[in-house]
Amino acid sequence: MNEIRALKLYNTLSGKKETFKSIVPGHVGMYVCGPTVYYDAHLGNCRTFVSFDVIYRYLLHLGYKVRYVRNITDVGHLTDDGEDRMAKGAKIAQLEPMEVAQKFTVGFHEMMRVFNTLPPSIEPRATGHIPEQIEMVQSILDRGYAYERNGSVYFDVPKFVNENPGVYGSVSGRVLEDLYAETRELKNQDEKNHPADFAIWMKARPQDLMVWKSPWSVGFPGWHLECSAMSTKYLGKTFDIHGGGNDLKFPHHENEVAQNHGSCGCSPANYWLHTNMLLLNGKKMSKSDGNFITAAELFSGDSPLVSKGYSPMAVKFFMLMAHYRSTLDITDDALLAAEKGFRKLMETHKLLQNMPVDPRNFDGSETDTDRAILSLIENAYQGMDDDFNTAVAIAALNELGGYVNKLANQQLSHSEVAPWVLERLKTVFKTFIHDIFGLKEEDANEDNGTLEGLMELLLDIRAQARQQKDWATSDKIRDALAVVGIQVKDGKEGATWSKT
Ligand code: AMP
Ligand code: ZN
Repeated sequence: MNEIRALKLYNTLSGKKETFKSIVPGHVGMYVCGPTVYYDAHLGNCRTFVSFDVIYRYLLHLGYKVRYVRNITDVGHLTDDGEDRMAKGAKIAQLEPMEVAQKFTVGFHEMMRVFNTLPPSIEPRATGHIPEQIEMVQSILDRGYAYERNGSVYFDVPKFVNENPGVYGSVSGRVLEDLYAETRELKNQDEKNHPADFAIWMKARPQDLMVWKSPWSVGFPGWHLECSAMSTKYLGKTFDIHGGGNDLKFPHHENEVAQNHGSCGCSPANYWLHTNMLLLNGKKMSKSDGNFITAAELFSGDSPLVSKGYSPMAVKFFMLMAHYRSTLDITDDALLAAEKGFRKLMETHKLLQNMPVDPRNFDGSETDTDRAILSLIENAYQGMDDDFNTAVAIAALNELGGYVNKLANQQLSHSEVAPWVLERLKTVFKTFIHDIFGLKEEDANEDNGTLEGLMELLLDIRAQARQQKDWATSDKIRDALAVVGIQVKDGKEGATWSKT
């Protein structure tokens, strides 16, 4: 292990921060509910996956061997009107359901690549694990926590609750009466024994497109079942961390726990981590409510919600500036501030990495500056150790950046900083920026930052030429820019430019 640091994480089960202890020392099993691939992932989904990517990266940084499983939901996720989301997408686009799944899986992977997230260790698809799900339904039936009705199989919630006090409700923290009242299982409502019962196998209707044979009927598994079956298959009956967005606590995660308990009598995960929602106009960003902006729209600026396009790295930095358990509201002003903050951090990083380390300037004693730098480095780590608080870590890096800039413009003498402290600072910046946050330079193709800088310089030179009545240079710049597709317009306030 790299550095054994006491890691605290907020466990939804206890409602408290707990010191993390993995089942097998040095190893972590983590399952995160992945996307439902019937539409492009929206920015809210991206926030959740970026948050878990940073959690994965930090665990790796600490030296754990992590098996990170993130599924692809390509069947069985019902809309409120009881229709399979995959089939719904298929009907709209007139494609085969698996074609829809493939298209949006590819799109999702591309989005994860653009955000520079690491691929999970295993990415199982629900449709690739039908036998495992059928087996789990059977074991829940065998243990008496489910019943068959007209070819569908339902989880018997009241029986489970009676025999396993304190389990159902442990994720969402809600009392049973609320859970019963809120249950959203609408399909075949009347054939269930109790409204809170939920389907773990559904008999197909004539319009259902994705169906499989089972001992009970030709049908398909309930949405909640896939995560129980796949986490058990790849991580074991009980594993370390289970994650997902807040909105999945009920019914999805609550039902997952019930299914795992129901089939093997044990809890699936020791720690449940939930990310908070990305908001738009103060409301949860959501595909089904139509209140969302896609990442592509944000990158291109092609949306009335933003004044310009933002690079994926600026957007990622915007997400990391908030702790994963806080809500985050997308606004143009906040994005502008994040973009500025990101560029400043990256400039400081470059400056620092190019800074020579000169042992001749060093007289051997530790200075106050050394101590201040080391304590800020410790703050950055403590932020991450405290439930992966990226906001605290970024604040510490920004303060450290202050020292780097002072060194660079000689407000601070190099003799104030011991060579090993400067080396450590370089490593810490590299580690946090690249390894832990997964940030990288803005790509020239994906971003306008470099172009904006160059245009500012060119228009400045052109303005000086015009002041000196050097029309030849002024025209040369304008004409050369026109050839590469940039139009310069002269106005009262000076020149402006746009891409043609
Ligand atoms: P879905 O594709 O709808 O199943 O969602 C995939 C993941 O994104 C789940 O973990 C959701 O909890 C999460 N998610 C959905 N909407 C948001 C949002 N507005 N902000 C953050 N995470 C979200
Ligand atoms: Zn899930």
